[in-house]
Amino acid sequence: DPRINRIKTSIRVVPNFPKPGIMFQDITTLLLDPQTFKDTVDLFVERYKGKNISVVAGIEARGFIFGPPIALAIGAKFVPLRKPKKLPGEVISEDYTLEYGRDCLQMHVGAVETGERALVVDDLVATGGTLCAAINLLKRAGAHVVECACVIELPDLKGRERLKGKPLYVLVESH
Ligand code: 5GP
Repeated sequence: DPRINRIKTSIRVVPNFPKPGIMFQDITTLLLDPQTFKDTVDLFVERYKGKNISVVAGIEARGFIFGPPIALAIGAKFVPLRKPKKLPGEVISEDYTLEYGRDCLQMHVGAVETGERALVVDDLVATGGTLCAAINLLKRAGAHVVECACVIELPDLKGRERLKGKPLYVLVESH
């Protein structure tokens, strides 16, 4: 698919951000070209349309960029999975480990109902810790996680192996 190559080349790699040694994959440059942004959303929509997905769960912050247009196009609701102390209502929380330290994702109680079919969306999977926390939140709410979808995978970090057997679909890999 020629769209994939344009997506790959539109992602800027920023060395030593946010810390020395990190090669940061910057998707903001992809968003600057409306056709490439649309192609990215379309590729996911083509995959998930008609799959009976009722909820797209987007992970803060860049899952809030790609998740909502996918949700609208497939006729699903959008549920934000947020960092602590952002959501005003009652929440459930999942802690997870980062390279250095811990983080947490929260979801509103009542946002997802038992038996719903969910798609988890983020920009990038590295160690898989963030997606794993998202999967746990949705499972606790009684949802069935159909798949996780990211624009970029860093396959060397083997994040796929942390996803509790849930399938992961990505558009591009970066080594
Ligand atoms: P993981 O939990 O898989 O180790 O890290 C994935 C999370 O960190 C995602 O929410 C993703 O947005 C963020 N992240 C880690 N590295 C990068 C990167 O190089 N570029 C971008 N855009 N996000 C990253």
